[in-house]
Amino acid sequence: MTALPLVFDAPRRGKPPRHLADLTREEARAVVADLGQPAFRADQLARHFFRGVTDPAQMTDVPAAVRETLSEALLPGLLTPVRTLSADGGRTRKTLWRLHDGALVESVLMRYPDRATVCISSQAGCGMACPFCATGQSGLTRNLSAAEIIGQAVAASAAMANGEVPGGPGRLSNVVFMGMGEPLANYPRVRATLRALLGQAPYGLGLSQRSVTVSTVGLVPGIRKLTEEGMAVTLAVSLHAPDDELRDTLVPINTRWKVAEVVEAADDYAARTGRRYSVEYALIRDVNDQPERADLLGRLLAGKLAHVNLIPLNPTPGSPWDASPLPAQREFVARLRAAGVPTTVRDTRGQDIDGACGQLAAADLGDDAGVPTVATPAPMLEAPVPLGAEADA
Ligand code: SF4
Repeated sequence: MTALPLVFDAPRRGKPPRHLADLTREEARAVVADLGQPAFRADQLARHFFRGVTDPAQMTDVPAAVRETLSEALLPGLLTPVRTLSADGGRTRKTLWRLHDGALVESVLMRYPDRATVCISSQAGCGMACPFCATGQSGLTRNLSAAEIIGQAVAASAAMANGEVPGGPGRLSNVVFMGMGEPLANYPRVRATLRALLGQAPYGLGLSQRSVTVSTVGLVPGIRKLTEEGMAVTLAVSLHAPDDELRDTLVPINTRWKVAEVVEAADDYAARTGRRYSVEYALIRDVNDQPERADLLGRLLAGKLAHVNLIPLNPTPGSPWDASPLPAQREFVARLRAAGVPTTVRDTRGQDIDGACGQLAAADLGDDAGVPTVATPAPMLEAPVPLGAEADA
């Protein structure tokens, strides 16, 4: 497989239309005031936006004469659903969204008995070039705006509230940044999104810090910035190899920031926030699943405030990479646990709709005339699933 270059600076494309979710409350109130309306109308619009109301006719607390004007000024439609695929009896739903410039991204909503999680995209494509990942092989199209990222979570929240997912009306409880893109490479918009996810109504979804997970492939300066924010969201680090020699090839960002630097930054995050971080490790047959690598990973993480999530790789069409066989998975888990490292194997829910990590949906997307073909996300599922009798207590 040909190595792709790392891309940190997203190509500049036309900005999405102005949206309330990209503005501070003061800025939104100023826009409303410029339109000759009392500033509190911005709060009314924000309430509607975060409840997923898109039709101005439903904004009945806003005078009918100005609903359209205000909605056009602050709530333009940024995400157009192209297609929704369901699996697991409708409890897993993958939505393909078209953005204003034709770029495509996906989000995946997963309902479990005790929670509902949405996996969202922060970039169209990804510049991190991981060779086993379909998204990485498609390159980076552009950064998403905060409103485009927030909109994915709002849509999931509304789908839950409106009872669109089997199980009756419910509440979106978790958000994970594990869809398309490297969140920390789009830092300012991801930070704005975090504020909206954690913010209270009318300018937020009111989620708890521990129920929001930011996943990174190891952008150390981004981890350090996040540490300074004082938001104790869950940090997930995609390590995939415990040694620099292998990680340089599996995760090309490792050529910039080595394993030790990434783990040190994650340790500092844990020390600052008091939150255990998660180490994501895609188990790839005969590539990184050897017993000695399990031991190496165990030594690397022993005694740290860390938890390992092993993810049997979802093979992508035409890829030489394959998931580790079950005996290798069990051996890997056993060795990590023997080293005292809490370890689970992740659910592969959504696999039958290409909604699991690193799967290629380009074949689907290519049907859509005029829409650029991109490889879609690597939404990984945060739910750790115990591996047989070796489950964590
Ligand atoms: S694994 Fe994650 S960071 Fe790497 S290319 Fe894929 S989406 Fe980007």
